[in-house]
Amino acid sequence: SSEPTASKLYVKETQCPYCSVQCKMTVEELAAPVAGQRRGEYTVQGVPNEASQGRLCVKGMNAHQHALSGQRLMHPLIRRNGELEPCSWKEAIQTIAERFQDLRDLYGADTVGVYGGGSLTNETAYLLGKFARVALGTKYIDYNGRFCMSAAASAGSKVFGMDRGLTFRLSDIPKAGCIVLAGTNIAECQPTLLPYFNQAKENGAFIIVIDPRKTATAAIADLHLQVKPGMDALLADSMLKVIMDAGLVKPHFIDKRTHGYDQLIQGLADLQLEQAAQACGVDLALIRQAAMAYGEAETGMIMTARGVEQQTDGHMAVRHFLNLVLATGKIGREGCGYGAITGQGNGQGGREHGQKADQLPGYRSIENEADRAYVASVWGVDPASLPGKGVSAYEMMEKAHDQEIRALLVMGSNPVVSNPNVRLVEEGLRKLDFLIVADMFLSETARMADLVLPVTSYMENEGTLTNLEGRVLLREQGRPAPGETLDDWDILCRIAAQLGGASYFEYDTAEDIFNELRVASRGGVADYYGITYERLRNEKGVYWPCSALEDQGEGLLFGERFAHPDGKAAFTFESSPGWNDISSEFPLILTNGRVLPHYLTGVQTHRSPALAARELENFVELHPATAARYRIHDGEWVEIQSTYGSFTVRSRIKDSIREDTLFVPMHWGGIQNVNRATRPELDPFCRMPGFKTAAVTIRPLRLA
Ligand code: SF4
Repeated sequence: SSEPTASKLYVKETQCPYCSVQCKMTVEELAAPVAGQRRGEYTVQGVPNEASQGRLCVKGMNAHQHALSGQRLMHPLIRRNGELEPCSWKEAIQTIAERFQDLRDLYGADTVGVYGGGSLTNETAYLLGKFARVALGTKYIDYNGRFCMSAAASAGSKVFGMDRGLTFRLSDIPKAGCIVLAGTNIAECQPTLLPYFNQAKENGAFIIVIDPRKTATAAIADLHLQVKPGMDALLADSMLKVIMDAGLVKPHFIDKRTHGYDQLIQGLADLQLEQAAQACGVDLALIRQAAMAYGEAETGMIMTARGVEQQTDGHMAVRHFLNLVLATGKIGREGCGYGAITGQGNGQGGREHGQKADQLPGYRSIENEADRAYVASVWGVDPASLPGKGVSAYEMMEKAHDQEIRALLVMGSNPVVSNPNVRLVEEGLRKLDFLIVADMFLSETARMADLVLPVTSYMENEGTLTNLEGRVLLREQGRPAPGETLDDWDILCRIAAQLGGASYFEYDTAEDIFNELRVASRGGVADYYGITYERLRNEKGVYWPCSALEDQGEGLLFGERFAHPDGKAAFTFESSPGWNDISSEFPLILTNGRVLPHYLTGVQTHRSPALAARELENFVELHPATAARYRIHDGEWVEIQSTYGSFTVRSRIKDSIREDTLFVPMHWGGIQNVNRATRPELDPFCRMPGFKTAAVTIRPLRLA
């Protein structure tokens, strides 16, 4: 890059949109674009704050490329005679209101569904929930965060009485004596966090990675437990049993700070370690080593992510890891705690403000009368008018398939790629009478829509996001909105006004919405009342809970009390059956995950040339012995099939994966979409699909 020139268009601080760390950065345009084209030179630099400390990974360095892409949607598109063609905003908004009204008259309010996303700002997530319940009066709202955080969130709520991603500050990580990273590949998913773990190692920490693959994160571990997918709960139980047998539990902490320990002792009494280790696919000696390292360490942290959570027993698996945390008293003090490593840019904030089927703002419950009454009073509506609890994201696709939902507004999400059992999802979306997608690009879902609404990117809209440690951060507008793009929240206000609800949706700025959100969250678990835009500008981020303007927010949680009314944490034990659908027809386990250069379904990162070039197409990672058994060569096309469907990717043979497991990234749609074969069974507690375990077979695609 060259020196800044006089034609510089902007120099603005923003935040990387591609993961939950929300690294602060500046994007500087050095030369004016040629008229009509979006070409110039850019420099990107990390800006130090407490979370990311000025670091950026390759995704952050190139995030601006999608925002400046020539593929951005600049005008609303409406389908006429089977083709999407430009239309005015006036026509788009009028059409939406008319179609929604017609369908509601015919089938009732619940015929319209709203599907949000964990990358939306807090303001948009909040408004989406209000829009569904007040402007549309529908109970059907959920979002893609169901696939991201629901298992850890529901487990944290159950055990601690509160769900916040990390119970500690990121900057506390180097103080931990032992760190367990279960089903989380931080080196590729949140790369700027890796230095914290390297620092911990330098300080003498023992790092344990639990993952079916030798990932880039496992490379820094002192001990790698290469667990069989789906067996995490049993592995956590086994570690706890070793710790109990060795007398490493902390009776004083258990007596004073928890209840339910007797139930845990009973639950683990019959656990046979040899058998459990065999079922987990891990040498018992290694399990013992891991357990003793964590149990003996004075301080320690456990972190989980989707590898543990995206299971049909994901909720329970997280709770079993939380039992380990509580039994050893490793929470509420420096160097200790539990962390759910959120994936999406606003994975934390996205789940706090009411875009979930069962939630109102501030983590209030839509089924609790007092919670309903409070939020209704903030919104100025009758509590009785608020709809009840809807269904989870995948179940909304089933409702579309059953034609119980006939119109769907999708905002900040690409459900036809990210849901399991894609065949049903495609059929469901095709059956809709009316599909609206608000997006920056013609995503796979947008291509199916009747109406596509162009929205601003992270560089163009203002709003707050809450990073994985519960730190609320303000992302300011960096450049003017291009073309006719609008902010998501602005679109919702326009539709609401057209539907006759203007008085409930009168906001001039995102800050206006935030100020209402503060009041709506007041007194709730996720209390933002004490946080203002002014504070966020001055203090560079504030932790929730923060109930008053003078409140500093809490970085380290549960020092004295947990969030349950009695102040205690709850041990629970329900043995988890694990998973075993393996058969002679489908003898391998398909699991999925992320790769370094891509984000979610790749709608944005595939349109960033620098990122796309790093991984142009999808692949399956398989062990050399598995490849030999199925006569598969490295780099050839293969088909992977389950009972739900099949997809086609290239083979990548590596000995870093278990012989019984295939790994496929989740960032591609079309015929390369891993979710064509994933299974739609849901966790009974949190409705998380079992993405991480599908029984499959594999064959080379070769001319005879
Ligand atoms: Fe930071 Fe995550 Fe963006 Fe990388 S992807 S720069 S770690 S926010």
